[in-house]
Amino acid sequence: MTEVTLQHIRAARDRIAGKVEETATALSLSLSEHLGAPVYLKLEHRQTTGSFKLRGASNAIASLNPEERSRGVVAASTGNHGRALAHAAKLEGLRAVICMSRLVPENKLDAIRRLGAEIRIVGNSQDDAQQEVDRLVGEEGLVMLPPFDHPDIVAGQGTLGLEIIEQVPGAATVLVPLSGGGLASGVAAAVKGVSPRTKVIGVSMARGAAMKASLDAGRPVQVEELPTLADSLGGGIGLENRLTFAMCRDLLDNVILLSEDEIAAGIRHAYEQEREIVEGAGAVGIAALLTDKVRAKGPVVLILSGRNIDMTLHRRIVCGEAPSTVERAA
Ligand SMILES: *Cc1c(COP(=O)(O)O)cnc(C)c1O
Repeated sequence: MTEVTLQHIRAARDRIAGKVEETATALSLSLSEHLGAPVYLKLEHRQTTGSFKLRGASNAIASLNPEERSRGVVAASTGNHGRALAHAAKLEGLRAVICMSRLVPENKLDAIRRLGAEIRIVGNSQDDAQQEVDRLVGEEGLVMLPPFDHPDIVAGQGTLGLEIIEQVPGAATVLVPLSGGGLASGVAAAVKGVSPRTKVIGVSMARGAAMKASLDAGRPVQVEELPTLADSLGGGIGLENRLTFAMCRDLLDNVILLSEDEIAAGIRHAYEQEREIVEGAGAVGIAALLTDKVRAKGPVVLILSGRNIDMTLHRRIVCGEAPSTVERAA
């Protein structure tokens, strides 16, 4: 296994300097009062393209050799990774192809097209889109950059952890949104590399938490994918996972799971108390603290990881519509 270390993450930071924002960290008075200890928000939802995924994508692209650059990059993500890759490739003048199924909504497709990527629409599932990726890699020589299970992606996401531990050097606990584990692996490696006693806790939705199920089983397992307000946390970790399963197993101190109602409460709190618009995946840290499921020692740092939520859905959540109603209507 190519374990990603503090050294790789520091190199990634040099590589992507000037290409991504160094986001601010803000003290949350309401959450500090709730916990009885300082709680800081890492405002990464304000990152260019609306999520931290730009860090990994920028580092992976900057790590390509000239011959790979000339071939271009490809991925099957319709969400934040697709956006980030499209943006990072455009900045560097590289060809980027994003493959997606016919079921992807028009607004997501448009967002990626506006960033200048080529779009291939194939089949009716993510698997069909992935097959098109494999074909493009084989026939056109494009370089596949996956959303999490890749050392350069993990090292790029880790730069967020470096900023956290520099901005809040005394952090006792860091809460990280967890899906495929690229973010959690990178952040934990960076934070613990600098501050070994800081606890790093992953937070996922209860509906389809593939990394949690895999950690419990002791090996990567598949779980049924279900609709969730934290849609950026959906999807599996890959049965052939090479890197992030082992890193999460070795570096995370705990993983917490949240219900849809709890995630909705996190989105609402972010909006009403912190005046921040975050997507479901970006709200799970706040949500976890509000549930009292984490007996976290302070100071605590929460990562607001993204803001790419459909604004009609956001409006309905902050108006207090139950998530189950939202889902049926969506
Ligand atoms: C991708 C994503 C995550 C989860 O990151 P992983 O590396 O897959 O664990 C969390 N929040 C947002 C907003 C994301 O886009």
